[in-house]
Formats: sequence, structure tokens, C-alpha cells
Amino acid sequence: MASSSKGSSKKRGRAGGAGAASSSAENEGTDVKDTLRIKITSMGEGGVGKSCLIKRYCEEKFVSRYIATIGVDFGVKPVEIDGHDVKVNFWDLSGHPEFFDVRNEFYKDTQGVLLVFDVTQQHSFEALTGWMEEAKKYGVGRDTVWVVCGNKVDRSQRQVSKTVADDWAKSQGFKYFETSAKEGQSVDKVFQYLFQKVVQKVTSRH
Ligand code: GDP
Repeated sequence: MASSSKGSSKKRGRAGGAGAASSSAENEGTDVKDTLRIKITSMGEGGVGKSCLIKRYCEEKFVSRYIATIGVDFGVKPVEIDGHDVKVNFWDLSGHPEFFDVRNEFYKDTQGVLLVFDVTQQHSFEALTGWMEEAKKYGVGRDTVWVVCGNKVDRSQRQVSKTVADDWAKSQGFKYFETSAKEGQSVDKVFQYLFQKVVQKVTSRH
């Protein structure tokens, strides 16, 4: 998601409450609802399909805003998870090295991580450990829910097998999904799983 051409925002995203888990009462007419806000951060090398996965999941309901100067795409998506109204704050971080310094500012308060590699690019798989280390170093806590996506499974030139990726994810305690942002394979499943796990953690603390 590194190029500024990706900033096809329809409206400005709302940055309020984008950090820690928060619950806000929103007055909509006579309706007063508790809304959970959760922060999801995507990580992985540039070009593996992070932005496409998020956009595929969110479709036209996604309100995003690309901040070119810092290489971050931010968006909000309302969803309902286990009876809770949830506003998902997506922070889609650029994988490109030139954004290293600013990227580090966005790890704090992350509750769910979408860790993505491209199954046709071995180096993008090997880079996952580095992403984890960077994220942990700059504030992603032990309580955070991680999912690993092997993306672009629609392509034939595969370099990373499902077994190898699944074993690695398991060894880290993460769940592994094989996805195609292009064809939609498992995209809903990944996000549903991630949001549910985060919401369960957040609500169990209250
Ligand atoms: P990011 O830098 O990780 O956010 O990657 P993007 O989402 O911008 O995708 C990079 C390129 O990969 C784009 O040209 C996408 O069209 C392509 N792409 C993303 N996901 C898939 C996929 O599942 N299958 C295929 N074949 N191409 C994909």
C-alpha cells in the first residue's frame, strides 16, 4: 500500500478513538448505543496484498484516507460482532523501508494484527519474523490477536506451501488462512475470526 495512488478515499476517515479499545455512547436520534472501537493493523512487505484484502472485505462501505506523507492508509468500518456494534479502525501500514520511522508510531494500542505474505514470494514469508519483531519492539503487546494470511493463492507460481506456512503460524500461536484478495477466498473468514477474537478479549475485561 505504499503508493499514493491508493488514496482513493471517498470521505475522510474519523481518527477519534483509533487507539485503545474504547466504548462510546453514540446518540443517534433517540437511540443510545454502546459502540466498541477496535484497532486492527496490517503488516507485511509492500505488494503482498494488504490493502486489497482490507478493501475486498470492506467493499464500498469502507471509508478510508491515505496519508501519503506517512505511508499509512486509515479507515473505519462498522460491523456487528456477537451482538456488539463495533467500529473497526484499520491502520494499513506501508511495508516500504522509507516509512520505517513513522510506521513505528502506529503500533501502539493495536489489538489485532493482519500479518500478510504473498505465497508466490518466499522472501515475503521470510520477512514475517522481522515484522513481528518490529511490531513488538514498538508497542504491540502480548494480548494482541495475530492472524497470518498467505495471500494470492489464486496464482500458480507458488513458493510457500500451505503446510510450511501453517506450521510456522502454529509455532507462533497464530491462526493461518490462505487468501485471495483477487477472488475473495477466505477474506471474510479472516476478518470475522480476527474481530471476534479481539471483541472477546475486550469484552471479557469489562
Ligand atoms: P500492499 O502493498 O501489501 O497493500 O499490496 P496491494 O494490496 O497494493 O497489492 C499489490 C498488488 O498485488 C496489486 O497489483 C494487487 O492487484 C495485487 N494483488 C493483491 N492481492 C492479490 C491476490 O489475492 N491475487 C492476485 N493475483 N493479485 C493480488
